[in-house]
Formats: sequence, C-alpha cells, structure tokens
Amino acid sequence: MATTKKKPAKAETHAQNDNAHLLKNRAYINGAWVSAKNKKTFDVTNPATQEKIASVPDCNAADTKAAIDAAFTAFPAWRKTLVKDRANILRKWAALIEANIDVLANILTTEQGKPLAESKVEISGGAAMIEWAAEEARRMYGDTIPAFKDGARVITTREPIGVVGAITPWNFPHSMITRKVGPAIAAGNTVVLKPAEATPLSALALAALAHQAGLPKGVLNIVTSAQAKVVGATLTGDDRVRKISFTGSTEVGRLLVAQSAPTLKKVSMELGGNAPFIVFDDADLEKAVAGAIASKFRNAGQTCICANRLYVQKGIYTEFLKSFQKSIEKLKLGTGQEKGVQIGPLINHDAIDKVTALLKDATGKGAKVLTGGHKTDDYGLGWFFEPTLIAPANQKMRLAREEIFGPVAAIFPFKTEEEVIKRANDTEFGLAAYFYTKDLGRAFRVAEGLEYGMVGVNEPVVSSESIPFGGVKQSGYGREGGPQSLEDYSLLKYTLLGGI
Ligand code: NAP
Repeated sequence: MATTKKKPAKAETHAQNDNAHLLKNRAYINGAWVSAKNKKTFDVTNPATQEKIASVPDCNAADTKAAIDAAFTAFPAWRKTLVKDRANILRKWAALIEANIDVLANILTTEQGKPLAESKVEISGGAAMIEWAAEEARRMYGDTIPAFKDGARVITTREPIGVVGAITPWNFPHSMITRKVGPAIAAGNTVVLKPAEATPLSALALAALAHQAGLPKGVLNIVTSAQAKVVGATLTGDDRVRKISFTGSTEVGRLLVAQSAPTLKKVSMELGGNAPFIVFDDADLEKAVAGAIASKFRNAGQTCICANRLYVQKGIYTEFLKSFQKSIEKLKLGTGQEKGVQIGPLINHDAIDKVTALLKDATGKGAKVLTGGHKTDDYGLGWFFEPTLIAPANQKMRLAREEIFGPVAAIFPFKTEEEVIKRANDTEFGLAAYFYTKDLGRAFRVAEGLEYGMVGVNEPVVSSESIPFGGVKQSGYGREGGPQSLEDYSLLKYTLLGGI
C-alpha cells in the first residue's frame, strides 16, 4: 500500500543478505520461538510453483491460550512503559524493516506471489505505519473539561484496552499486520496475532525484527495455524482478550462479531469490498486507463479496494475500451521474482475456480471476453490466470455483487450521473470507490453521493499510513491509519477530582 520510503536509522540496523535470519519456522509466543504443543505442523507453498517453502506450527486452542497468557502477563508492564520508550522501540522496528526490505520482499513474494516491486511497496508502507503509530502515541492526548460543580476538576485520558486478538488475511501479509499491531502496541496494548494460513512467514519475519528492536516478551505473539476456527473461537471466547481486530471477508467478520458479543469486546472489522470505478465522458482518457490498470490489476486483482465494477459512460465507452484492452494486453505475467513482471499467480486453486465460475456466469448473461479468460500453464505449475477484459457487464451478473479477487476487468456501460451513483451504491459493501472527471461540480456531487468509506477522485491509489482506511455498510467499521489510528486501540476514561 502506498507509502513514502523512509531512511533507516543506521546505528541500529544491519541488513543481511541471506533469508535465514528472517525465515522462521516456529510460532512466536512470549518472546520465544516455539513448536505447537502437539508438534503438528502445516506446509506453506509458493503459489507460483506449488513448491513447499516451509512447515510451520499448526497451533491449536492450547497454544493460543498460551499466547493469551503471555500477552495478559505482559500487559501491566507494557502499558506503564513511558510513551517515548514505546515509540523508540517502534521506530527501531520500522527502521529494521526498511533495512531488511529485500529479504522481507523475497519472503513475501515467495509465499504470496505478488511481484517483488509490489512487495517492497507493501513493506515500506508497513514500516511507515509503525512509525506513524509511534508518532501518534506521543499525542494520545486527553482533555480538561470545565467543572460542573464547585471544588472539582474534570479530566479525560486515553488508556490502552488490554490484550488485542488480531486476525489477518493473505493478500497483504505484511501491511495488514503492521496496520493493527503498530497502533495497538503504540497505545500500550499487547497482541496475539493469527496470520493467514497461506502466508505466515511474513508475520514471523516481522516478529523476528520486533524482537531485535527490543520489544519485551509477550507484547507481540504470533500464532501460526491451519485451524482458523479454533484459534478464532479461543480468542473471542476468552474474557481477557478485550479487543478483536479483523481483516478479511465479510462472512468471517460477521462470525467474529457474533462470537465477541457474549464478552462485549471492542471490535474493528476491515471487510470485503466491491469497488466501483467510474469513468465519465469528460474524464482524461489516458489517466483513466492508467488508473484502471493500477486499481484493477495490482496484486493480480486480489485486493479489497480493487476496481470490481468499471462503469464507463456511453460517450467515452468505445475509446476507453480500446485503449484499456491495449494496456491489458501489454501486462507482463510471471513469477514475482522475475524482472518486469506485473502480474503474479493467484493464491491457490480455489481462486482460479472462483474467477472461472464468475466468468462463466458473466458470459452466460451476455458479456464477451475481449482478451484473456483462462488459467494459463505457460509460467509453470503455479496458479496463473490471464489478465482478462469482458464487456458489456450488467447488474444481474455475480461479479456485480461478489468480489472477483482476480485479474478480470468487467466493463458496465452507463448513461447518466444519477444512474451510475445509484448503481455504484447498489451493493452491501462500502469500502472504496473511484471516479474520473474533469468537472469540479461533478467531483463534489459524486463523491458525496457514493456510500463508501474511501473515495478516489482521479486517483487510483488511496492507501497511506496518514489516512483513515476503512469502510461503511458491510465492509465493516473501525479505521486503520490516520490521525484517529490509536482511537480504535484505546479507551476514553473520565476522572472527576473533588475536594479542591
Ligand atoms: P478470510 O477467509 O475471511 O480470512 C481472513 C483471516 O481470517 C485468515 O487469517 C483466516 O484464516 C481467518 N479465518 C477464516 N475463517 C475463520 C474463522 N471461522 N474464525 C477465525 N478466523 C478465521 O479472507 P481471505 O480470503 O483470507 O482474505 C480476503 C478477504 O479479505 C477479502 O474479502 C478482502 O476484501 C478482505 N480484505 C479486506 C481488507 C480491508 O482493509 N477492508 C484488506 C484486505 C483484505 P485462514 O487463512 O487460516 O483461513
């Protein structure tokens, strides 16, 4: 996700060129590298080759409980740490991430598949998020409120919540973690994190660097597992876990909210999207095409804020389609480590099946495949799918309602501004939306009409550590990043001082 590259603090950072020091094959609990209690493991595979990369512990309820114990024990001391000391550890962690960016990117690309250049952008964004959180921690201000009675003073303070249970997805195996863990730890909480089954290695590498940065034992715990349900139920079922922070599908988000209800945990939910990308007649064609490529095909279309429905107005439709198709046909597919590759493999066979089924449904309902359309074996055994363009799409197709999560661009023609706002909002999701226009009045009207948490006007990349990232409707609630980033990880306390 988007970022500014930061210079590492030289004194404390030593980049190493081998992967070994960051390629961990144990869970990280209470500051130690541990196996699952029952010694079970699961394999991590490279989606570009289907080769096994590593085996990591398949943690179950007992291991998760041990991690909660560690986080709960570490909390009282960590919350009392001076904010400047917490911020210093976080800044050191961020600097170490930047100093090891090549190794981290290689690990990320190997387990997730995205091109190395994208991995580096993600990792830089992760470091920037941690640094941002460190800075925000120093400004966790409260208020003084004019007293409502004689001889009294009224103050508010922000306090950490306690143990945070965090669960993250595979599509951004680094930055989805730093977005949660950075603010959580900065605010004085401790964390038990379960990374996605497909991508635990980036999480463990992050923990190794946090350890090196001097994060005390128990403050961050990483529970690798192929038993998501068990770990989720253990985290949500434990009263000592006071907050659940989840990024993933809306379906699992709903479940975790329900499971958190009996103990009334604070929850943050970063869930699925169905982004409209609207091109009006008056748009700058070249910029709109470049924006559509960037928004649709980043991470092979596997992002929550990806353009899912491309609405193109009638007056620019033919021209846009021609130019967009040309650009799509130039995209370079291949393994993420290969130079110049822009599209890597999909994460697994299920992803190929889903994209294929959505395409079959769309073509059965009137869309034509203009380019691409198939899984390809030209790049070896991996899960590669050709960059694909289909048109015309309509609201009856499954891909108008479901996340495609693959490199398939579906073009929906439209006539009027009112019509397209209505159609863009015709979804249960509300994460990100984009549109291209040169008309200032329209820019305001449409931005205000779109029921989304984030809107890009003539801009395809909206992420940064400095903005409040998050959705509305069934895309969830809570914000990650921006000036509010520590609010979701702290509680407001009011104190009345009498007898003054
Ligand atoms: P997912 O199936 O919901 O999985 C996300 C995480 O939840 C993984 O760690 C997964 O573990 C775990 N999980 C699955 N079932 C669980 C359960 N019953 N209890 C507890 N944890 C459970 O989603 P995904 O396929 O990995 O990720 C793609 C989704 O994430 C898309 O919908 C995308 O839009 C969304 N996303 C949203 C944002 C945002 O900021 N709004 C950002 C990125 C992605 P396993 O991996 O072991 O199954």
